[in-house]
Amino acid sequence: MGRHRRLCQWSGCRQYANLQDLDTGQTFCFGCALAMLYAADDPIVNYTEFDDSTEYTDAITRHPSIERLMQRRRR
Ligand SMILES: [Zn+2]
Repeated sequence: MGRHRRLCQWSGCRQYANLQDLDTGQTFCFGCALAMLYAADDPIVNYTEFDDSTEYTDAITRHPSIERLMQRRRR
């Protein structure tokens, strides 16, 4: 699998994206995805990570409220 060249679509961010939000189709770098996870009310829980990364998955599985958020999504 070759390295992707998609950019983070967070406003003003110029990093390469690490994951794609499957709900919106937008791509985000790891830093912006984490910022949404910790600071926003609407973290990315339906996503795919590029380059076989599990970095974001590892982060959200350690987040205290993520299970509740994901269960709400699946209902
Ligand atoms: Zn970013």
